[in-house]
Amino acid sequence: MSKALRLSEKWFRFGLWIVAFVFASFLIGLGGTIVENLPKVEHHYTQEDFIDQPQAEQARGAIKQTQKTRQEAQDKLEQARLGHNAARANSASARDTFNNWLATRHVTQRAEQDPELIARTQQLDALKAAERKALSEVEAQQQILLDAQQAEARAQRQLRELEQAAAEQLATGQRSQELRVFLYRLTLTLPLLGIAGWLFAKKRKSTYWPFVWGFIYFALFAFFVELVPYLPSYGGYVRYVVGIVITVLVGRQAIVSLNRYLEKQKQAESLPDVERRKELSYDTALARLAKKVCPGCERPVDLANTAIDYCPHCGICLFDHCGQCNERKSAFARFCHACGAAARAIS
Ligand SMILES: [Zn+2]
Ligand SMILES: [Zn+2]
Repeated sequence: MSKALRLSEKWFRFGLWIVAFVFASFLIGLGGTIVENLPKVEHHYTQEDFIDQPQAEQARGAIKQTQKTRQEAQDKLEQARLGHNAARANSASARDTFNNWLATRHVTQRAEQDPELIARTQQLDALKAAERKALSEVEAQQQILLDAQQAEARAQRQLRELEQAAAEQLATGQRSQELRVFLYRLTLTLPLLGIAGWLFAKKRKSTYWPFVWGFIYFALFAFFVELVPYLPSYGGYVRYVVGIVITVLVGRQAIVSLNRYLEKQKQAESLPDVERRKELSYDTALARLAKKVCPGCERPVDLANTAIDYCPHCGICLFDHCGQCNERKSAFARFCHACGAAARAIS
């Protein structure tokens, strides 16, 4: 790509790189939306999905029932306490009255008052009995309340145990669901990476290279960036392992290419001058000359020195003389810069 020397071609290539990035960004946006929507394919689990429903229903029903009973008993107990207080007060005031009456009677010692004594004593006994009855009502409500409280505690304990068991199952269920969703995403992004690898290996120099590179960037971004927020705890392993594999593959490819290049270069340097010129494209030769390196072997040469006509490293001819006007000119130029005559055919 750096071989392009024509100004318009350079700008076109720049534009095509922009096309590649824009293409990649739209693909990334699309991929992100798809990946983001993936969890919706799975049902969102709650504790209710795992709890033993009939038993939980029973426990919940029992709690509700005992709560109702407890509330009722509480109300009745309050009423009973009030009744008991009233009965006690009645009984106490009647006793006071009776005691006063008894004191008076003791002083007067009137025998005709004996039936009244009996009646008053009976009345007092009745009040005492009513007090006792009110107390037993209080006790009965207290018993009901205690029973209800204990039954409720039992039901609560049972429900807690059920919920605990369900929570454990929910954790397991969520873990396996997390794994499944992660695998969905992996099956979506990993093949993309595979396609990108194939495109990189086979198509990166094709006519449609901007789309190829756009797709490669998209695949890399989707796998190494977009997948990250959805990775479960062990997802890092997958990412790093894939990263290592890709680095090794690309690194190996680079080493193989370097060796191939060196081998090719070595072979080329052993070929005759004319053959080597045929191998070199015009633009490549000019680009290398602009970098002040020999177009044949890419080693640095002092092109400003007019005494140097041949590369001191590989022997390729760098400057020759025009066939028409004998002016010293670049051996790679197609036309003489002095007279405009066409150079001897080199390619
Ligand atoms: Zn050279
Ligand atoms: Zn000339």
